[in-house]
Amino acid sequence: MSAPSDHQRMEKIVSLCKRRGFIFQSSEIYGGLNGCWDYGPLGVELKRNVKNYWWRVMVHERDDVVGMDGSILMNCAVWKASGHEDTFSDPMVDCRSCKARLRADQIVNKKGEKQCPVCGGKDLTAPRAFNLMFKTYVGATEDESSITYLRPETAQAIFVQFKNILEVSRKKLPFGIAQIGKAFRNEINPRNFTFRSREFEQMELEYFCRAEEGMDLLAYWLKERLKFYQDIGIARDRLHVLDVPEDERAFYSKGTFDIEYEFPFGRQELEGVAYRTDYDLSQHQKASGKSLEYFDEETKQKFIPHVVEPSAGVDRTVLALICEAYSEDEAPDEKGKMETRVVLRFHPRVAPIKCAVFPLLKNKEELVAKAKEIVNLLRPHMNVFYDESGAIGRRYRRQDEIGTPFGVTVDFETLGEKDAVLRDTVTLRDRDSMKQERVKISELIHLLSSRIA
Ligand code: ATP
Repeated sequence: MSAPSDHQRMEKIVSLCKRRGFIFQSSEIYGGLNGCWDYGPLGVELKRNVKNYWWRVMVHERDDVVGMDGSILMNCAVWKASGHEDTFSDPMVDCRSCKARLRADQIVNKKGEKQCPVCGGKDLTAPRAFNLMFKTYVGATEDESSITYLRPETAQAIFVQFKNILEVSRKKLPFGIAQIGKAFRNEINPRNFTFRSREFEQMELEYFCRAEEGMDLLAYWLKERLKFYQDIGIARDRLHVLDVPEDERAFYSKGTFDIEYEFPFGRQELEGVAYRTDYDLSQHQKASGKSLEYFDEETKQKFIPHVVEPSAGVDRTVLALICEAYSEDEAPDEKGKMETRVVLRFHPRVAPIKCAVFPLLKNKEELVAKAKEIVNLLRPHMNVFYDESGAIGRRYRRQDEIGTPFGVTVDFETLGEKDAVLRDTVTLRDRDSMKQERVKISELIHLLSSRIA
């Protein structure tokens, strides 16, 4: 059980997410749909920034990785060959007393007796395998031959396109194929806000290599991925690495690390980094009858490459960022009285809005015109927000609460009314320290761009 303060913290986070437009329940006006979420105006920006940064470091900044974007629906043969149709399941138990449907690992064991965690009942069914894939039909006839599934992971599209991409990209081993996209799992118990959803997004890299390189590359990718989380603002001491023991790994995996984060509801997986050997490509080669081998020009040998897979969840990363960023401190209000300030301390790199621009007064035409000029100046470089309503302190607070790292205020000094030297300068306020510096408008783009890069 998590401590009450963690529980309260999580409640505050969920309520802030709704109130400020990060995350809403899907189909809310109809009572929602369990396990499905919609990202609002700020959530979508945060999510996009996470995906763009992942793509930047995993694809654009590397010579050895190319991207792809596969379809969500695939030939059902893919899911047979990958093993998902037969084995992608969780054991499920029903409580006959309260009719709760539970994952077997949620059953409470009290003094050697199994109990329902919802009602405490002991009348439970034996565990049964429940396949997590969403089944659907392709075309007009709903029969066995038209069945397929919404993909439960993005990786399989990469494996089945391995040969095409190898040919067009002319890459040599080791090299990787990256993809970001939706995945669907009919989770038995979606819970912990967006953490366990039925529809979610993954960021996956399949990094192909020679068998002898597999274990070293597993260690390499673990290090790279830990660095990624730190570079988007997650403290290293809240990240944990679980070396998954052999009996809990997929049978084909020679090593798996789970990267976990200390969420308010407990330590939970953010990403799996797995050495999957040559299992996936071998399965697809066998089932399709098409060669998925690599020809090594130096040794003149043909073989099926091995693969190391860092597989991350976009939604879990976004949730971790919000949990990490959420903080409360004390700051003076308009009258100098201390009040609680809610701040999302996002790394500027992922913050939904990078800079807010305020005219000191909204009824002073020159201030408004100058502020709008600055908005237009910054807009091509970053996501900016213009706000003229309310006292300036209140406007700062509204931005603090959504994690905007910088605030630019246009005041009478900007107009050169007090001191000609200060003409065309503004105050630049830092969200975390609340310190203000006087900077030239002409230097803003450079200054801000370097801080949010
Ligand atoms: P878990 O044990 O939590 O169910 P998993 O080990 O089945 O996760 P993987 O199959 O390794 O997850 O998927 C890779 C990543 O995809 C996970 O680390 C996670 O970030 C994300 N992911 C998987 N299932 C979900 C889900 N139901 N909701 C949100 N993200 C998910």
